[in-house]
Amino acid sequence: MKIGIFGGTFDPPHLGHVSAAAAAWAELGLERLIIIPNTVPPHKELAENSPPPEARLDMTRAAFGKIGGAVEVSDIELKRDGKSYTVDTLAEIRELYPHDEIILLMGTDMFLSLESWRSFEEIMKTVTLGVFKRSDGQEDAISEARDRFSAKYGAKTVTVKNDPIDVSSSEIRAALPDRGGAAWIDGEVYGYIIRHSLYGSKPDFDWLRVKACEMLDPKRTRHVAGCEMEAVKLARRWGEDESAAREAAIMHDCTKSLGLEEQLRLCEKYDIITDSVERGDAKLLHSKTGACIAKCEFGVSDEACAAIRWHTTGKADMSTLEKIIYLADYIEPSRAFDGLEELRRLAYEDIDAAMLMGLQMSLEDMRDRGIVPHKNSKDAIKWLAKREG
Ligand code: ATP
Repeated sequence: MKIGIFGGTFDPPHLGHVSAAAAAWAELGLERLIIIPNTVPPHKELAENSPPPEARLDMTRAAFGKIGGAVEVSDIELKRDGKSYTVDTLAEIRELYPHDEIILLMGTDMFLSLESWRSFEEIMKTVTLGVFKRSDGQEDAISEARDRFSAKYGAKTVTVKNDPIDVSSSEIRAALPDRGGAAWIDGEVYGYIIRHSLYGSKPDFDWLRVKACEMLDPKRTRHVAGCEMEAVKLARRWGEDESAAREAAIMHDCTKSLGLEEQLRLCEKYDIITDSVERGDAKLLHSKTGACIAKCEFGVSDEACAAIRWHTTGKADMSTLEKIIYLADYIEPSRAFDGLEELRRLAYEDIDAAMLMGLQMSLEDMRDRGIVPHKNSKDAIKWLAKREG
């Protein structure tokens, strides 16, 4: 059997890793491909903000699982203490597969540094080296090293003709805190990174929009897009963080399409405390469950989640961002009702007066429809009326 071995730090695994491995799988006719994340790489330090090894293992499984076939992610190096020397790993693999051809896969950088590896001559004697490019234009460097390794050490090398994706894990780690990196990572891996707040990551806005859309009733997507636009404008007007306003607006209705039963199930799952009025009203619950999902599943900031939490009822002592999301939801461009123009004008002139007007209109509407308003809305009105004198 022809077995490919591909080791790395995979911190995090990216599309460059996976596409190179997929090319090797297809082109070299491998019958098994073993991906091996290392504990401590011998040739470099782990990044300071690296997640625990188990997290790299999870991400590596998600990323390479997409290749399909007999691809397996092994924890043999993670189970070993100290630096992860390839020579030790190959000895373990050899015991499992004594009679098979082993092809040790690597990118150009690793191939060119091979002579600095522990026991590299032994490695070259026991396995075939499989090399792929990390970026375009590396063919000459690869063939020069291949010829030299062959002449000097008798190494056998096969080259994989891959279309390289020129990216590195360190570039991605640097981009994640600035809401970047998503384009270079498998979607499941990106979701994992965001969910666990790895590498100081903050969610990419396009990714958030897609996730929100997947959860929304299609009829609401226009409203949510309008709410985002309005929230950003209001944030600029009132000197608030535009990014927080944007992420709150994108996610504010993420659980709106769910019925009461499902809302209650989420409250139980996430230990959300509810009162008796909320427990009978999916509309009231969606702001609580939405805030929780935005935080736990989509890495939305605490201040934005608080704004999602209060966007339906309001409350006393609202922050400016909370008022912005409440109002953006109310006055975004696709809305139409009597008094809208006045409310829009006030939202940009006197945000507390706009809140008071919005809450009073909404309470009147509820009374007309025989719905008892939530206590938080009444508290908000009292608080705002006092502020407005
Ligand atoms: P870092 O930026 O943290 O140094 P990295 O992106 O180089 O990480 P590693 O996990 O160190 O990734 O690399 C593991 C293996 O994958 C190495 O053999 C490396 O040459 C190869 N590799 C890394 N990036 C690419 C890429 N974009 N295309 C092809 N191979 C790659």
